[in-house]
Amino acid sequence: MASAESDREVSSAICSEFLRFSAKDTASAWLQASDLHKEVYQHLALYVPKIYCLGPNLNPSSEDLLVPLLLLAPLEWYLLGEEPALALARLENSSQPSQLCGHVFKVGEPTYSCRECAADPTCVLCMQCFLGSIHKEHRYRMTTSGGGGFCDCGDTEAWKKGPYCHKHQANSSDCSLQDPLAQLSEDMVARGYNIFSVVLKYAVDMLTWDKEDLLPPGLDPPDRGDTYYCMLFNDEVHTYEQVIYTLQKAVNCTQKEAVSFATTVDREGRKSVRFGDFQFCDQAKAVIVRNTSRQSRPLRVQVMHSSVVAHQCFALRTLTWLGHIIASSDGLRRLLCQVGLQNGPEGENSSLVDTLMLCDSKMWKGARNVYHQLLMNSLLMDLKYKKLFALQFAKNYRSLQTDFMDDDHERVVSVTSLSVQLFTVPTMARMLMVEENLMTTIIRTFVDHLRHRDLQGRFQFERYTALQAFKFRRVQSLIGDLKYVLITRPTEWSDQLREKFLEGLDSFLELLKCMQGMDPVVRQVGQHIEMEPEWEAAFTLQMKLTHIITLMQEWCSTDETVLIRAYQKCLTALSQCHGGFTDGKQPISLSLAGHMVDTIRYPVSQERVSIHLPVSRLLAGLHVLLSKTDLANRSPEQLPLSELSPPMLIEHPLRCLVLCAQVHAGMWRRNGFSLINQIYYYHNVKCRVEMFDKDIIMLQVGASMMDPNHFLMVLLSRFELFHIFSSADCRRRYRDANKDVVQQNNTLIEEMLHLIIMIVGERYVQGVGQVEASDDIRREIIHQLSIRPMAHSELVKALPENENKETGLERVIGSVALFKKPGVTGRGLYELRPESTKHFNLYFHHYSRADQSKAEEAQRKLRKQNGEDSALPPPCPPPLCPLLAGVVGLLQSDVLLAVVSAVLQWTTEPSGGHWTESMLQRVLHLVAMALLEEKQQLESSSGDDDITFTFNSKISRPGEAPSTSGSILALLESLQNAPHLEAHKDMIQWVLKMVFTIKTMREQHTASTSAVNACGSVEEAVGERDQAERKRKAEMARLRREKVMAQMCEMQKHFINENKELFQQSHEDLDPPAPEHSAPLAEDPEVLVCVGPRLPGPGPRRRQVVTCILCQEEEEVRAAGRAMVLAAFVQRSTVLSKNRTRSPPDPEHHDPLFMHPDLAFATHTASCGHIMHATCWQRYFEAVQAKEQRRQQRLRVHTSYDVENGEFLCPLCECLSNTVIPLLPHTHSGGAQGTIQPSLEAWIKSSCHQTASPAGPPSPVPDQSQQTQSGPPSAPPDQSQLTQSGPPSAPPDQSQLTQDVGASAPEGSSVDLPIAAAEGSSVDGPISLFSSSLQGMITTFGTATYKVGLKVHPNDQDPRVPVMSWASCAYTIQTIERLLTDEEKPLFGSLPCRQDDCLSSLARFGSACWTAAPQTTVQTHFTRLLSALVPGARATNTPCILDIDMFHLLVSSVFSYSSVHKLDQSERCSLGSAQLHLLHLATVAHLVQILITSVPDSSMDQEEVCASEEEEMTFHLYNDLRTRLDSALPEVSSGWQLWRCVQSGLLPFLRSAAIFFHHLNAVETPPELHVAGPDQWEALCSYLSLPSNLLQLYYRERSVMEALLQGWCSHPNLRQTLQGAAPLISFPRESNQLIDLPEDYSALINQASSFTCPRSGGDKSRAPTLCLVCGALLCSQSYCCQTEVEGHDVGACTAHTYSCGAGLGLFLRVRESQVLFLAGKTKGCFYPPPYLDDYGETDQGLRRGNPLRLCPERYRKIQKLWQQHSVTEEIGHAQEANQSLVGIDWQHL
Ligand SMILES: [Zn+2]
Ligand SMILES: [Zn+2]
Ligand SMILES: [Zn+2]
Ligand SMILES: [Zn+2]
Ligand SMILES: [Zn+2]
Ligand SMILES: [Zn+2]
Ligand SMILES: [Zn+2]
Repeated sequence: MASAESDREVSSAICSEFLRFSAKDTASAWLQASDLHKEVYQHLALYVPKIYCLGPNLNPSSEDLLVPLLLLAPLEWYLLGEEPALALARLENSSQPSQLCGHVFKVGEPTYSCRECAADPTCVLCMQCFLGSIHKEHRYRMTTSGGGGFCDCGDTEAWKKGPYCHKHQANSSDCSLQDPLAQLSEDMVARGYNIFSVVLKYAVDMLTWDKEDLLPPGLDPPDRGDTYYCMLFNDEVHTYEQVIYTLQKAVNCTQKEAVSFATTVDREGRKSVRFGDFQFCDQAKAVIVRNTSRQSRPLRVQVMHSSVVAHQCFALRTLTWLGHIIASSDGLRRLLCQVGLQNGPEGENSSLVDTLMLCDSKMWKGARNVYHQLLMNSLLMDLKYKKLFALQFAKNYRSLQTDFMDDDHERVVSVTSLSVQLFTVPTMARMLMVEENLMTTIIRTFVDHLRHRDLQGRFQFERYTALQAFKFRRVQSLIGDLKYVLITRPTEWSDQLREKFLEGLDSFLELLKCMQGMDPVVRQVGQHIEMEPEWEAAFTLQMKLTHIITLMQEWCSTDETVLIRAYQKCLTALSQCHGGFTDGKQPISLSLAGHMVDTIRYPVSQERVSIHLPVSRLLAGLHVLLSKTDLANRSPEQLPLSELSPPMLIEHPLRCLVLCAQVHAGMWRRNGFSLINQIYYYHNVKCRVEMFDKDIIMLQVGASMMDPNHFLMVLLSRFELFHIFSSADCRRRYRDANKDVVQQNNTLIEEMLHLIIMIVGERYVQGVGQVEASDDIRREIIHQLSIRPMAHSELVKALPENENKETGLERVIGSVALFKKPGVTGRGLYELRPESTKHFNLYFHHYSRADQSKAEEAQRKLRKQNGEDSALPPPCPPPLCPLLAGVVGLLQSDVLLAVVSAVLQWTTEPSGGHWTESMLQRVLHLVAMALLEEKQQLESSSGDDDITFTFNSKISRPGEAPSTSGSILALLESLQNAPHLEAHKDMIQWVLKMVFTIKTMREQHTASTSAVNACGSVEEAVGERDQAERKRKAEMARLRREKVMAQMCEMQKHFINENKELFQQSHEDLDPPAPEHSAPLAEDPEVLVCVGPRLPGPGPRRRQVVTCILCQEEEEVRAAGRAMVLAAFVQRSTVLSKNRTRSPPDPEHHDPLFMHPDLAFATHTASCGHIMHATCWQRYFEAVQAKEQRRQQRLRVHTSYDVENGEFLCPLCECLSNTVIPLLPHTHSGGAQGTIQPSLEAWIKSSCHQTASPAGPPSPVPDQSQQTQSGPPSAPPDQSQLTQSGPPSAPPDQSQLTQDVGASAPEGSSVDLPIAAAEGSSVDGPISLFSSSLQGMITTFGTATYKVGLKVHPNDQDPRVPVMSWASCAYTIQTIERLLTDEEKPLFGSLPCRQDDCLSSLARFGSACWTAAPQTTVQTHFTRLLSALVPGARATNTPCILDIDMFHLLVSSVFSYSSVHKLDQSERCSLGSAQLHLLHLATVAHLVQILITSVPDSSMDQEEVCASEEEEMTFHLYNDLRTRLDSALPEVSSGWQLWRCVQSGLLPFLRSAAIFFHHLNAVETPPELHVAGPDQWEALCSYLSLPSNLLQLYYRERSVMEALLQGWCSHPNLRQTLQGAAPLISFPRESNQLIDLPEDYSALINQASSFTCPRSGGDKSRAPTLCLVCGALLCSQSYCCQTEVEGHDVGACTAHTYSCGAGLGLFLRVRESQVLFLAGKTKGCFYPPPYLDDYGETDQGLRRGNPLRLCPERYRKIQKLWQQHSVTEEIGHAQEANQSLVGIDWQHL
């Protein structure tokens, strides 16, 4: 179908109509009409189908033009009565700007909340408002919006302080009381009312329309066409892949189109996939339904008539239009609200808004989004109507939620998600509770949706189907709503509120009753359970309800009446749950230590136990609230305590705690992981507040109300330990009992003792002990930090969060801990203040066993460091509240004393497993607690009579019959010296001391009534004695340390004296270091040059002996010896690139001989410096390969390195490597003083002669380079052609050449014979100077650089092989030179030796690699290189000097020159002078290059006072150049400025050259270059054998040079380049840095939030990712931006790395706050971002939301990784450390 054409025809038809159409006339016709509804509908019926839906595309651009003119304009004219734009502007001016911001958040936009002032965490500000608010000085939280929701600025209920930002403050003069309609004329009100009614009705009709082929009455089009759409709808069941696959089948589209369809369906909720007649569309529908109905319900597809779709499209447009209109006037907004909420003819709940809400789940996503947006802009922005809307919302609540359960869309696109906007407003929530009974409604709706119950009516999640599980997840959002309603505690209560709250509590208790006792467990004996029972659902429910339960208690605590009635209700509910406490069990009676109690038999190990006891726990919570009230103090008899039955209260919590103990004792092993997990969560910080903690409280409550002996006997009985302590000879345990049973019982006894310690000692809950609200959290922190210093986030994780996600840590942390800032790695840490350690309690109830032992170890170590004993006695607990005061009775109860005495008795015998150290430790702890209690009572009482605690005297009593042992005190005294209890000695002594103290206190108490002070001093005296002893020990330790220090000091002095010179040198930095360089320096400092004939002679030949890291054998590096190799890593690099827009080189056609000065793509070589035998390495690599193959076959896992690509890890340091560099012996050149050196001119002549081959055909390679210059490279350098070009029959050429040279070079000394000819071997064959093993390694490394650098398959015959290794050597030197400059390090002496080794071996390799290539190839290279410097007749075949990096040229020509010349001693001198000539030529060429490109265009000061020689010469040369180039260069008047340019431009080149020749010729380095500093020009020039006035190079050889200059300047490309054909590279090239990042992370988030996916038209990107190298923002990890690279689909990041980083990329994932390193397609890792919060921590994933600031040091560290080419290595290390990183599909990012 030629849709495009028909489109054009139709729109031209419309256009003519549009010319005749007048919006004003239409509007006035409507004004006259009696039935506006009918008129407007007629208009729409006529035009809408003519504009919309004329082709397959639902949203062509023609609509944008036509809709406003033909459809919207008449509406506006009708409403406003005049030119709409003008009228709207006027309205806007007269209207009071809103005091609410109301900015609706986009996906990914940053939102801010204040931790101090926000009413709840849902209160957020937009960035603008936040920056203008007081909260930016507070502790704020930053998050990214998931989309939807709006800025709460200006909402006084949302903020405790500072509700307005600067901007909205101005508007706060209260206008809300005023009726906004008063601003409008009466006329306009009437018109607005009419037109809004019609338009909104139309929109609602169309959006809720469910017929596919018919239209609502009045909208039938005059001429109905026969076109249909096959509309595909979104669901959350089918995956992207399924949809894409199905579409390709059904509508026969490409994968790309299918992806685009699927993306739109996902975004908009629907998308037409086919356009045409009914049958055509219906076919597609049938295929889609058939293809997707197999696994699940089919995709929703409808065939819809085009006019229906057209009207739906326009309906959406009208909603947007309404939003736009009301934005300009509060009055119009209110009118729309009025229209929207007005009841329709059907009465109650029939308004248009009701209709929309109730149809919400039937609408597609796009429609929902649009009308939700309108609701937010209208009803939610008008305070009056917001209330009315909230009431409607609450009325419809149950049915909306039910719809939501059946709907399969995410909640953000459901109207139910608006609850957060309504319920979080406290006054609104209160109103809805009172008027609509909202609390009860929510809870009942929730309970109704959980249908599965067991026989007792409890929830049962065991047999949930997938669908039920899905619904269970959705129904949890109701708990969120309930939380919103409760989150603000009422400040005042009305009777109605009380009534409704208690009604709500009733339904809540109904819910809790369904949970009490759910998922019970029975101990599995014999066999292991067959299937892990379901437990997660129940815990999810518990976890979700935790905050609700806490909030309920807090509501109760604000009103005494409510509290008491709630307590009663809860008590009733509890007794309903358990029909009396006996539960039908057999009653028994127990007796012990002279006491008797009636209870039941309930062995936990045999009966059902449940961990879920929310009713009991709520009661415990309410009980401590009662205890906290005044009432408890004033008139406790009014409390409803009389109905309590303490044994019933404690029964279930006790069973649960016993269950935990038995699990610990290993008795429930056969019940599997489900139980272990439940126990874990029971204690976990997320649940424990309303689980474990409350169970302890309940036991405290019970203990306070019961006889302590009775309580303990019940405890013993439930622990199934009663028989041990009640038997007559309990003091002697049966040794012959089963070992397992003994061990089990030991653990149980330990657990029971621990429980008693907790019951008595845990008093930090308000209402249990007399503590302040923050004491609790302070104590938690102390105990966490007693384990070890912790980071802020670790601490936060260990502390319970309240409903606002706050822990309260910040308020108290300063009082107990000190903060230590982090370094460049790691994070900031909190350390416990020393004075807080006295609060440490080893039996802190929230310690896990592991925590406890770690804390114990840490604390003992600390005490030892402080010179204290190792006892860890309990800290002084706070006093108990009166209601619970009875708990301490446990400590001196007879039963406990019997237990204590029994345990102590067992410990007198060292051997045997019938007691444990933990047991003893706990008993001692209990005794110590009792003593402290007695001491406290003594201290605080005025007389003896009110002291009820007489523990001291009780333990002094000898044992009663039947046992005849001594008293507990006597036992302790006898134990204190027992050798097997050495570890406990300190603690026992502490106890005994305390006994003595109390005894003294008591004596004084009775002696004098005013004993308090006195006994204090006695106590002090005891303490002092202790302290004195400790001090003495500490002093002795100090003396010992000092003595040792003094000795060491003495030794050091001696050493320094003996090595005086050495130390002076190392102390005085400015003195020239390097004694090892002093030898040549002493003779004659000028001798030290690194290039040229004046090279120092070959001194005593240094043997180089190295050790193989694999076989540990030593080996000398010799040309004929076994090859030694260095592990190396070759990679492509763009780190120095000055042109990131250049596309990557074409692997096959690229000619790498000349490097462009933009250094766009280069090859870098690095090494870890580890040396192996080549054979050892080969064996190692083969083993790795074989292992890898086996591993991949077996496990299908991959390693961090790619073996198939030759990668391996260095066997010593595990550094990523992909080849090896052979170590070659140094062939020393130089030492040629005395011989005659050829002049430059002569040398050029002879070299040209040598390389020229007059008889031969023109070499194909120069031809090719010509093509490279003039345009895109065409043909690859043909292999066969190349080798043919130097045919084996070459010798005639050669001989002729030698003759020529001989003839034309009378100087004679420079007769350079081609080596092959001299040796009489084949000319073209590789020359073997080296052993075969070395030769092999030379090929290996050369091929590796070639393969990696060009991304081609290895081919050691390719002529580009040597070129690539030369270039890599040059580039590697350049990168190192840059790093040294950037870090202001000296040129020599500061590199790690592995880098020195790497450079040396690269340089030697470069000069030897020609031996592995056909000689003609290398000679051809040299010819071409030389012709760039010495332009001759063939100069046009080489690039112009502006397109050549001179250092690369220098390196390559020096290396290739070696091949032209024989390397024996007689040729040394010529080689040396040749190097120098090449250096001179390259330097002059570079100098000219700089003068042409890098002179700033400024003719400033004229004053030329006394120009130096070099300045004048530069000036002269520059003007010469200007003349030659027809003044294409700017005019410069000062030679000084030019010389400065030349110097700074040349410096990097000279420095690189110095590094190069130093390593090539192995010359010592001058000391001047071993220090960093600015003035090194002279030293550098001298080292390079250059005059410091470089211009002399030119003028000394003026005749030769002028010819060259002429050649360079006449190159045709030079002029083109200068005229701007390509960007000019100027010198010095600045080092590349990573992009600048903003200081504040939220600026980045903001920037990313406005970034849209470049491919899917204005859609927000889900994972915006910033390239740190070039600053590009990418749409990562998404289908929309996948592209094909080398035959694979890759994500935007991977694709970007190919052009920006030659395969390597550094990114910042903005939403995740995470740095991403990518290398190639398979490698990647995440790296900590350079952003830290105030606590010195990063926030990967932005989970915590603390404000983040840039840490420059960390960013520099990342930058350095990049500049040093260590990113790939970093990835390797990360992947080795974390195997899961290997499995990630990095290429899809
Ligand atoms: Zn705002
Ligand atoms: Zn604001
Ligand atoms: Zn604040
Ligand atoms: Zn070896
Ligand atoms: Zn290594
Ligand atoms: Zn980039
Ligand atoms: Zn995208």
